[in-house]
Amino acid sequence: MTVAEQAAGTPAVDDRAPVHTRALIIGSGFSGIGMGIELQRRGVDFLILEKADEIGGTWRDNTYPGCACDIPSHMYSFSFEPKPDWTHMWSFQPEIQNYLLGVTEKYGLRRYVRFGAHVDRAQWDDDEQRWHVFTDDGGEFIAQFLISGAGGLHIPLIPEFDGLDDYLAGDGAAFHSAQWDHDVDITGKRVAVIGTGASAIQIVPEIVKDVAGLQLYQRTPAWVMPRPNNPIPEGMQRVFANVPGTRAAMRAGIYWIHEAVGFAMTKQPCLLKLGELMGKWNIRRSIKDRELRRKLTPDYRAGCKRILNSDTYYRGIADPKTEVITDRIARFTPSGIVTADGRERPVDVVVFATGFHVTDSYTYVDIKGPDGEDLVDRWNAEGIAALRGITVAGMPNLFFLLGPNTALGHNSVVFMIESQIRYAGQAIAAVDRAGAQALAPTRDAQDRYNDELQDELSGTVWSTGGCRSWYLDEHGVNRTLWSGMTWQYWLATRRFNASEYTFTR
Ligand code: NAP
Repeated sequence: MTVAEQAAGTPAVDDRAPVHTRALIIGSGFSGIGMGIELQRRGVDFLILEKADEIGGTWRDNTYPGCACDIPSHMYSFSFEPKPDWTHMWSFQPEIQNYLLGVTEKYGLRRYVRFGAHVDRAQWDDDEQRWHVFTDDGGEFIAQFLISGAGGLHIPLIPEFDGLDDYLAGDGAAFHSAQWDHDVDITGKRVAVIGTGASAIQIVPEIVKDVAGLQLYQRTPAWVMPRPNNPIPEGMQRVFANVPGTRAAMRAGIYWIHEAVGFAMTKQPCLLKLGELMGKWNIRRSIKDRELRRKLTPDYRAGCKRILNSDTYYRGIADPKTEVITDRIARFTPSGIVTADGRERPVDVVVFATGFHVTDSYTYVDIKGPDGEDLVDRWNAEGIAALRGITVAGMPNLFFLLGPNTALGHNSVVFMIESQIRYAGQAIAAVDRAGAQALAPTRDAQDRYNDELQDELSGTVWSTGGCRSWYLDEHGVNRTLWSGMTWQYWLATRRFNASEYTFTR
């Protein structure tokens, strides 16, 4: 039975024999879909394990009002699958999800996806030189190569507030921004939004018109730059579709503008003061109240936390129905939220726009390598690290997409994903070429790479900008972002270097 045939039907748990394939991909977001296309192109048999019932990853999960991408769509899309008719420069979630669905159909990938397959552990068998991968419903999959396309922004983080259980037991509703409960009607309700990151600034202006009152709980203000997101005229879309070179030129323009910001973030953080001037102007033009302006003005270097873009956020805040609350949340009650000043505000709906488990997200799958070595234990002890963010010393044939230190603060992660899927594809081909069963990077190559990377990161705005962000782990080490320009990452991954690896025959 081919993998595609096996994947087509999901037999009852008890009847299941282990499913064999050459490569297993976890997740069907941009990473998983891109990797599937790469393996298909290379003729490598593969299967995608997806925990949910549809493809799309973060663009399937995040359906909150106003959800959009903050990187322009002509760049936030596969270079090999351009879409000339993006309706907005910064597209909204449904259009991005439709794009991914379209790519999936075009390449016939759906038949390789096993839905409802939540991977919870993987174990390398040294005798067989194969990964045994287990799903939480008892399924077992055996593969030579294991590729995680799970990414770092898929496990919602809800802080442990005192009294939250009492509130949840009451009549009020509560949900995370990435798990928006569309059955809850917020019209005419008192709504609390907790957090002022990338998700919150899109939610606030979208819901303020409908609610009775909006309490916005801000711990740290964000730098928010102006962003007019008008529809792209149809005439322009036709030009992109029909005039050779125009779409590519658009993509290149977007790419280099973002790289310029990346240069400031990684090499010359002082240049980001220019961005701060624009951010302050953005506040001034929308907010009349001096005290509110003060609350909204960050005291750290722009770029230290993700720079946000919106023409509507401050307008949403200026709405008389919005109250920006900067007192710390002390506790929840069965019907409201009490801040550190002792004041209780009644609330009907709470939206946790409080981000994701990031540096600890890689450990959600229990991965055991040769001799049962636990990758989670190693990473908990040493910090998460990989060679080029993709392969891990001592862990044969294991690949991470958007793994350690390959997320971005300034450009499209789809660009990074494309570099990684190409590299992983080359690595798999190198195993075959060598007549080997497996490869893993040497500890020496991995350590040298990470020493250099951390050295470069120490001068970036993420370390020097005077803020605390999810880019840093609990020891203050940046384990999430790439240290330089994205073309440097492209160069570093363009050719798989076999001398950095050991092969097992
Ligand atoms: P986030 O950037 O991590 O923001 C979380 C917010 O919650 C922050 O304002 C944080 O305050 C606040 N918070 C956390 N714990 C809190 C607590 N105990 N009390 C009060 N406030 C608390 O999360 P996000 O907005 O969901 O965005 C996460 C990432 O997803 C983004 O950086 C971006 O990479 C991605 N994203 C992208 C887009 C896009 O357009 N492409 C859109 C949405 C999200 P502090 O700042 O003080 O920690």
